[in-house]
Amino acid sequence: MYILGIINSRRLGKSLGIDIVGSEKKRCNMNCIYCECGYGKLESELGIYADFDVAMNELKKALDENEIDVVTFSGFGEPTLNIEIGKYIEGIKKLTDKPVCVITNSTTLHKDIIFNALLKSDIVIPSIDSVNKDIFRKVNKPHFDINLNVLKDSLIKFSNAYEGKLFLEVLLVKGINDSKENLIELIEYVKLINPTELHINTVDRLPAEPLDNYNEEEIQVIYKMFQNNLSFTVKLF
Ligand code: SF4
Repeated sequence: MYILGIINSRRLGKSLGIDIVGSEKKRCNMNCIYCECGYGKLESELGIYADFDVAMNELKKALDENEIDVVTFSGFGEPTLNIEIGKYIEGIKKLTDKPVCVITNSTTLHKDIIFNALLKSDIVIPSIDSVNKDIFRKVNKPHFDINLNVLKDSLIKFSNAYEGKLFLEVLLVKGINDSKENLIELIEYVKLINPTELHINTVDRLPAEPLDNYNEEEIQVIYKMFQNNLSFTVKLF
């Protein structure tokens, strides 16, 4: 079962989800403290984690039966761990002219096969929650294979090459990655990415561990800090 059904997404509209890494269990190279899938064994190997033909058949059926706005790679883990993601993007484009969106934690963009695959999608939503190594480790709990500097460089390189919509996502966790110093560093880095839009998120669904959240006044102060220092659209979700 690779099709997740339709989610009414505030930023994407009616989004039909396709999961090509998990289905039954979370498969990810990070254990973000806010992950709604909970904690799992870290996996960083790229592999074939879905049956292409079965997934395409399920998708075709879902597309025939539903009106949607976008097909989104999402689900129980990091979709770019599936080495065939480029084949899936091409396959979806043969079935529909609706945009294809990839939500990614940005950790595999330094691999040519993933970089080139994502260039073919219409929307990419990469995330980065901190550019400070210690805070990154605290908030995202990455596999030891993941190097933050490599991630940062590959995200800049991708944004320069990509012609689709790039919605960069930052998730802020109260008291963890929102110090003034961290936010200033993050803003300077985000300027180098120059995305179509920056999306600021806070903990929304049930996180992997209990976390504090912001009141309206607190998050507005942070939101304005991003808005006042960036020339592109910043949205708060
Ligand atoms: S990258 Fe996504 S799937 Fe992986 S741990 Fe973080 S929130 Fe969960």
